[in-house]
Amino acid sequence: MSMTETTTFPLSFTLTPSKSARQEAHREEILASPGFGNYFTDHMVEIDWTVDEGWHNAQVKPYGPLSIEPGSAVLHYGQEIFEGLKLYRHADGSIWAFRPEANGARLARSARRLALPELNVTDFVESIRQLARVDAEWVPSAPETSLYMRPFMIANENFLGVRAAHRASYFVIASPAGAYFKGGVAPVKIWLTTEYTRAGRGGTGAAKCGGNYAASLVAQTEAYEKGCAQVLFLDAETGTHIDELGGMNVFLVKKDGTLVTPRLTGSILEGITRDSIITLARERGHTVEERDVSIEEWRDGVASGEITEVFACGTAAVVTPIGQLLSNEFAVGDPDAPAGELTMSLRQELTDIQYGRVADNHSWMTRLV
Ligand SMILES: *Cc1c(COP(=O)(O)O)cnc(C)c1O
Repeated sequence: MSMTETTTFPLSFTLTPSKSARQEAHREEILASPGFGNYFTDHMVEIDWTVDEGWHNAQVKPYGPLSIEPGSAVLHYGQEIFEGLKLYRHADGSIWAFRPEANGARLARSARRLALPELNVTDFVESIRQLARVDAEWVPSAPETSLYMRPFMIANENFLGVRAAHRASYFVIASPAGAYFKGGVAPVKIWLTTEYTRAGRGGTGAAKCGGNYAASLVAQTEAYEKGCAQVLFLDAETGTHIDELGGMNVFLVKKDGTLVTPRLTGSILEGITRDSIITLARERGHTVEERDVSIEEWRDGVASGEITEVFACGTAAVVTPIGQLLSNEFAVGDPDAPAGELTMSLRQELTDIQYGRVADNHSWMTRLV
């Protein structure tokens, strides 16, 4: 019997309640204006892994600082992956997650690429459920608000040799999130970087790992300096096709209603929002093309009117209309034009499913509490 078979499945979690949980008044004050990523709930999940024991020590415990050795592999070689998903409070008070098993499957794919251990999808979803139960009062109920869950995994073997670590830990922390667009959904400007790329062939582009973000931040800073909200990356090999934004996938809408989005080349993150939008658009009878999309197609298409809408999508902002694309050479689109009609109606349909305002015909929702 191999040592990893000693891991019990499914994992059972122990609970250590926080002694310093925020009082209701304090929590309500935070939930009234949480922003994004500013505050964390009273508890967190930890599950540990070693090459000999497999996954063990599953626990829900008070939120607080980690203690890791300075020699931990993650601090030197960046062996880290993460996920992001939201919990939604429905009108009857129940709490739901959107396609959490898809996040679990993606975490396992990311783990494989980063040479980290795979947590099975059942344990992943259970880890989310455990934290949701303990910190249920932290799921806000105002329109377009949610509790953002951030599962992540780090290599914490105290060893400087360069190889896949023999020790890792998985955590889930949770952070209440306000409505992404406070004054209503407004189109954003996007900066096209031609200097930097985020992922190359055979690289980690399809994995959700901190390293991809580290590589994107200098371009993101440039975007801010140009007055843009996010940065658009081209493919690393030819510099001619669009890949994605730093943390969102991209769609173009043609005037005949066809949606076009970059195909999954291995250097693009497989967004669950992207996949859901493809499904919803096809059900409405739209043609959706997943293929190489050149930057000229976007630039010239918007200029000629062949492309009528452009939007980005991801869990944090759901669907974000793109008003203008800016680069060193050109600017296309009208930053003051209203958000596109299809963009807004797909956004509406997706959020209606997430908040339980319409029937969930795809079995995308999982009730947690
Ligand atoms: C997480 C992420 C997305 C969006 O994925 P969703 O599953 O839709 O949230 C897109 N691009 C990158 C680089 C990401 O990390």
